[in-house]
Amino acid sequence: MELTQSAKLADVLYDVRGPALTRAHELEQAGHRILKLNIGNPAPFGFEAPPELLEDMIANLPIAQGYSDSKGLLSARRAIVQYAEQKSLPSVDVDDVYLGNGVSELIVMAMQALLDNGDEVLVPAPDYPLWTAAVSLSGGRAVHYRCDESNDWAPDLDHLRSLVTPRTKAIVVINPNNPTGAVYDRPVLEGIAEIARENGLLLCSDEIYDKILYDDAVHVSTAAVAPDVLCLTFNGLSKAYRVAGFRSGWMIVSGPKAHARSYIEGLDLLANMRLCANVPSQHVIQAALGGKQSIRDLVIPTGRLYEQTMRTWELLNAMPGVSCVRPRGALYCFPRLDPEVHRVQDDYQLILDLLEQEQVLVVQGTGFNWPSPDHFRIVTLPRVEDLENALGRIGSFLTRRLAD
Ligand code: PLP
Repeated sequence: MELTQSAKLADVLYDVRGPALTRAHELEQAGHRILKLNIGNPAPFGFEAPPELLEDMIANLPIAQGYSDSKGLLSARRAIVQYAEQKSLPSVDVDDVYLGNGVSELIVMAMQALLDNGDEVLVPAPDYPLWTAAVSLSGGRAVHYRCDESNDWAPDLDHLRSLVTPRTKAIVVINPNNPTGAVYDRPVLEGIAEIARENGLLLCSDEIYDKILYDDAVHVSTAAVAPDVLCLTFNGLSKAYRVAGFRSGWMIVSGPKAHARSYIEGLDLLANMRLCANVPSQHVIQAALGGKQSIRDLVIPTGRLYEQTMRTWELLNAMPGVSCVRPRGALYCFPRLDPEVHRVQDDYQLILDLLEQEQVLVVQGTGFNWPSPDHFRIVTLPRVEDLENALGRIGSFLTRRLAD
């Protein structure tokens, strides 16, 4: 009998590492050099971790051989509580903190513990697609609320409100946003919190880019504007501390918990079932949060990440029929290809053609649950010379396509 994948996977998609990446690997094996601008993984682009993280990992290896508590080491959770206080999260205790193998594991856990078949979660469009995938895998239905490109990609609160049904369980906020680079102002977060409050919904706020901010952007935690709403805040070391390979993330439960005892017991059960997060990586959380925040040197106007992101943004906007909202945070640009000019019918085919013809790999906008085939996402981690090279090739590809 043929072994088929479970029906649970029918709606589960993760195109950041999808079939186009498999094709890129094939091309590499055939001797091509591919510029991979598809994954937000800082280390391969020469963004080194703060040295104290490596020193702490090495120094603690001898005492990191056993499992830890399921929720994680107390020293790490204490450091996270202190960070939560700095970000004005309401009354967080060490018991409210769960460490995970990256935020990814915790997102799946949070959805698995929450959803019955057919329950709905309001997820932004575009989104970081793990959220939609985790909802589907858990038997739920991701219902996408629009973010408005003409309003710096802020969530459309009227649309969000209109989507609430009796089956809605939670609202997902991704701020700073992947893929758009938007950073939400306080009134937007207050509006989202109000919708959650009125409808008794859980708020899930993915804040993994909260320290990667450009220009005058200021990050406000969703939980800080919603002290009376149950909120899960997600963060970790993968981006601002450049150690995505350490798989180190955390989740903080805040707000009123009396009505959510059963859900929290579900989270505890799932945390127990996976035993614990990678222990050597847990040892570096305290050093990361307590040490020099070297990410700041990278995001100031003379910093490498700032220069690369803004150069990418500029070059995209200089292409005919391409426009891009200036990112205020994170590691990406999410340009629009004017449908009147570029007439893209299938954005997956577009990025495959780009890969074959120009050896540049980006991710199609529909891979982020954007409903129309008129965007793609580009990672701004490579050196400026490499980005200029990649954007030159994207420009030639689009120009050639227009001439066809
Ligand atoms: N959330 C967002 C918005 C992301 O962009 C990413 C990774 O790209 C993750 C979560 C996953 O992070 P982690 O490495 O902690 O699993």
